[in-house]
Amino acid sequence: MQTAMMFSPHADDAAAFCGATLAKFAAEGWRVVLVRVTDDARDSVGLSIEETIRRNTEELHAAAQALGIGEIVELGFPTDTLADVPETALRERFVYLLRKYQPHTVFTFDPFAPYEGNLDHIRVAQAVEEAFWVACFDLHHPEHFQEGLAPFSVCERWYFSREMSSPNHVEDITDFFSQRVAALAAHRTMMQNTINQFRLQLRTWGRRSLALDEAMTGDLTQLVTGFLYAQTSAVAEAHNLGEGRLGEAFRVVRFGDMDEFFEQVSEPLPDAPEPVVHQDRK
Ligand SMILES: [Zn+2]
Repeated sequence: MQTAMMFSPHADDAAAFCGATLAKFAAEGWRVVLVRVTDDARDSVGLSIEETIRRNTEELHAAAQALGIGEIVELGFPTDTLADVPETALRERFVYLLRKYQPHTVFTFDPFAPYEGNLDHIRVAQAVEEAFWVACFDLHHPEHFQEGLAPFSVCERWYFSREMSSPNHVEDITDFFSQRVAALAAHRTMMQNTINQFRLQLRTWGRRSLALDEAMTGDLTQLVTGFLYAQTSAVAEAHNLGEGRLGEAFRVVRFGDMDEFFEQVSEPLPDAPEPVVHQDRK
């Protein structure tokens, strides 16, 4: 069984950005591990910090279950302050997890994406990008090796972002869309805070939205379905997935400009596990 590891700055990032693809991996036999980097202690409306942590954690477990994510690793950094954590401290935790779980594929925000306004997202993306190569060095964090770990390299990085400026892969997630809706709707506390931000902005604009007002107290499924459908159908249409299809876009990186070279000069390992790949992926 191959492992995919999602580095999620916040509890809701998987459901909000790439959840259907994670659900697809899980359905096709991958072990999917989610690393939640922060504690999401302030992402709520009208709740105490303790209650916010409790609810966001509980809702993450429900969302993970909806997506088929088998394991959650909690790093517990204070939320919305990762910019104050040394990048190398974050990177060390990620290197440790890569060496421990040995994922074939990692998912996170694109470290080079434009228009990202959340520094937690940027710091996690940058630390994952560095952890990718640092994990290979036997002189970086040799203390890990005392636990029986070894230098390790991830094969593929699947980067997503708010604005995909240069996606090179679109995953057809039509059959997994409802799982992503269920996962995002499960993040009730964080979604209410997101909705409340829009309400505050609308108020300053001199407007209100009854649909948003209702979503603050009622079921989120309808609102989430509309939002995610618009996003994933636009991705599918832009990449010609076909009538009625839905997609999630990524910048997938393996060896970069050396992909072709390694195709030519490498051959399968005799003891390599049978790769789990989708029909539409090489
Ligand atoms: Zn986030």
